[in-house]
Amino acid sequence: MTLLDGKKTSETIQQEIAADVAEIKANGGKVPHLAAILVGNDGGSVTYVTNKVLACERVGFGSTLIRYEDDVTEDELLAKIEELNNDDEIDGFIVQLPLPKHINTDKVLEAVDPKKDVDGFHPTNVGRMVAGLSAYLPATPAGILQLLARYEIETKGKHCVVVGRSNIVGSPMSILMSKPNYPGNCTVTLCHRNTVNLAYHTLQADIIIAAVGIPGLITAEMVKEGAVVIDVGTTRVADETRKAGYRLRGDVDFDNVAPKCSFITPVPGGVGPLTIAMLLKNTLRAAKREVYA
Ligand code: NAD
Repeated sequence: MTLLDGKKTSETIQQEIAADVAEIKANGGKVPHLAAILVGNDGGSVTYVTNKVLACERVGFGSTLIRYEDDVTEDELLAKIEELNNDDEIDGFIVQLPLPKHINTDKVLEAVDPKKDVDGFHPTNVGRMVAGLSAYLPATPAGILQLLARYEIETKGKHCVVVGRSNIVGSPMSILMSKPNYPGNCTVTLCHRNTVNLAYHTLQADIIIAAVGIPGLITAEMVKEGAVVIDVGTTRVADETRKAGYRLRGDVDFDNVAPKCSFITPVPGGVGPLTIAMLLKNTLRAAKREVYA
């Protein structure tokens, strides 16, 4: 069994990006700049956005954090997005989700210029991804592709079972794994909350990608010998022995599943660290005008 080290892979990708930025600077080019809009004070969102801004600093990007209180109006938010769309200094920006209930998330995401949509959530980027055109890919699925590629995991003709169909992970993952290029070219099954007999499907999988948010959902009896298991789940569970008062648990019963696997990601330290690396990569691509040439 090989542990897929997301932390190490993320560091490698960030070093590659930093080297690229150093070269851009040396040639007098424009330093990539990411902006992030954060609404409210939700602990998880604040941590995610802070980590994204710190990561920008690490690789030499410029970064701007724009914060609003929970009671910001939709119009205020849309006006800021319009401003960022037209600001030549900003190469890409993200709106941290979830947004408060009084704000229409779809409307906000659609207001982002697709050329600056480094989260890959705008329908134009989703459509381009589905059509196999150059697009900003959502960071978590893109990170999983990187992990598969950098560990040279065979995917062609394999049966990949994706569990979870969210717009940010499961759904795009299933599409990308079905595409005729590496890593991909799989026969894909997409399972979700209404799937009847989940184990029937996962037992046939050469590759399982679990993105659900139910700790330990995937047990050893549901996994065939030699499978590749990618665990996207990160659920906070109470743990008094930790300083934070919680620890992260994945969707996979790691201790019992790992001995059956050819490759498996740990939680934490698997998929998680790659998400930030791929956001940086998208921002670099935005600055280089690579996606919409
Ligand atoms: P979501 O809540 O939007 O979607 C969960 C999906 O799981 C749904 O499509 C639902 O149909 C499916 N589901 C629910 N119960 C199920 C069951 N019993 N059997 C099969 N499918 C079931 O979640 P999401 O945003 O895709 O996130 C999923 C998990 O991944 C969460 O734990 C989240 O924290 C984590 N996540 C991690 C990263 C990262 O590591 N960077 C990024 C995004 C999400």
